[in-house]
Amino acid sequence: MKIVYSEDHNLHDGLLDPRGDGWSPSSECPARANNVASTLREQGFGEFVAPEIFADEKIYRIHTPGYVDFLRNVWTQWEQSNETGTNARPDTFVGNGMRYADTNCVIGKLGRYSFDATSPFVAGSWQAIRSSANVALTGAELVKGSDRMAFAACRPPGHHATQNYCGGYCYLNNNSLAAQSFLDSGARKVAILDVDYHHGNGTQSIFYSRNDVLTISLHADPAVEYPFFLGYADEPGEGIGHGFNVNYPLPFGTGWDNYKDALADALRQMQGFAPDVLVVALGLDTFAGDPTTYFDIQTAEFRDMGQAIAALKLPTLVVLEGGYSVEWIGQNTLNFLTGIEGG
Ligand SMILES: [Zn+2]
Repeated sequence: MKIVYSEDHNLHDGLLDPRGDGWSPSSECPARANNVASTLREQGFGEFVAPEIFADEKIYRIHTPGYVDFLRNVWTQWEQSNETGTNARPDTFVGNGMRYADTNCVIGKLGRYSFDATSPFVAGSWQAIRSSANVALTGAELVKGSDRMAFAACRPPGHHATQNYCGGYCYLNNNSLAAQSFLDSGARKVAILDVDYHHGNGTQSIFYSRNDVLTISLHADPAVEYPFFLGYADEPGEGIGHGFNVNYPLPFGTGWDNYKDALADALRQMQGFAPDVLVVALGLDTFAGDPTTYFDIQTAEFRDMGQAIAALKLPTLVVLEGGYSVEWIGQNTLNFLTGIEGG
């Protein structure tokens, strides 16, 4: 299996998370993707390839030009403003009854295009964000060609980002860009299976009114876990998209015994849809040892998860999403990829 990877993600560094009364180094740090890359290399898994560079038109298939301009320019605008701080971050959001006004103030722009305060910008963020999208799109090209499977080692992740919002450490929705790229090259139907611990609210929103992409997400119940405001069981899609979104909210403490039953049901839904291609949004934060989450999946069980999904026998692109155990994310990724490759 080819691994698409770029060192550009290291430019998105020095991020801070709001925690308690202050700020802490972000869980979404370069060491995550570096651990994935080094573990796969040390174990001799797969063949590393660099991403191709794709035109912005590929990005505009999912994201609005205004939003992409914001991502591209926000750090420069931050530096030119009176704001201080190493992380450009919003503090004011658009509530119900307010307007999505085109404010010129950088703090206003940050609030206009964010749904939370966990996706800051530093000097190198845009290059890393754009490169991460290129990684996913390159993975799609491989699967369109002679590769039956590929792994896009994306960072930053993407599944919380909508057409015009960043949030949850996500900026461009890498798995959605890949899915659209498959459709634009002739695939009739694409399925996205999101196994990250958190609901893939961005991916759901992007395809919610469409019937050419089936979106399925297994995740911690949003009644008690981020992103709180989407990801419930009664969100089937709308219009012609009705019936093409399925959510599996699961309780804290979910281990493989219960997870595998939900996954089996999800895979039956996938088979009924009969997609041409599968995109897996691979978050490793369902891991029992993840310091930020509350599921109980063991390292070896990621291989079982990969094997279960492999039974679909579909051309598959795996896209890296979350996972915050820097020590174990590489091994967990390796186990999943070994399982889905048929090992
Ligand atoms: Zn997550």
